[in-house]
Amino acid sequence: MIQALPDESATRAFGARLASTSPKRGLVFLEGDLGAGKTTLVRAFLRALGHHGPVKSPTYTLVEPYEIGGRRILHCDLYRLADPEELEYLGLREDLDDATLALVEWPSQGAGWLPVPDLVLSLTPQGGGRRLALTAGSDVGRRWMARLLE
Ligand code: ADP
Ligand code: MG
Repeated sequence: MIQALPDESATRAFGARLASTSPKRGLVFLEGDLGAGKTTLVRAFLRALGHHGPVKSPTYTLVEPYEIGGRRILHCDLYRLADPEELEYLGLREDLDDATLALVEWPSQGAGWLPVPDLVLSLTPQGGGRRLALTAGSDVGRRWMARLLE
């Protein structure tokens, strides 16, 4: 699935729609260069689930957990990850198991170590906006995508 996101509000609207159609549990990979809009999308996702506070970019902490309506959501940014083994040290695998939903920026940094994602979102520049490419990696992801397309 390919979708044009002509401006930031379109990215935010998509993030909100991703949240409103989200399954109970899920893992989402967010690909795209610096400034592609990954954190903007996650921020809208968390807001749509009912998070009111700030959403920091977990560039240095790598992981930022949220408790929203009894659900545990993880926002990860692996850009600064030096070695996938660091993920072991951080206990991220257990965190991912515990989390109901996890959104991971720069998943390529954890290649071979992260579980298979339900959805992969890829943001690339297009004109002044962005092009979003979406692929499903599991049945949960395929059903999620079907709800997104409704
Ligand atoms: P990333 O987390 O991918 O590094 P950010 O979300 O931190 O990127 O920053 C993305 C920047 O691009 C923000 O300044 C935001 O306003 C802008 N932006 C987000 N989506 C779009 C879009 N669809 N079109 C144009 N600009 C966008
Ligand atoms: Mg970011």
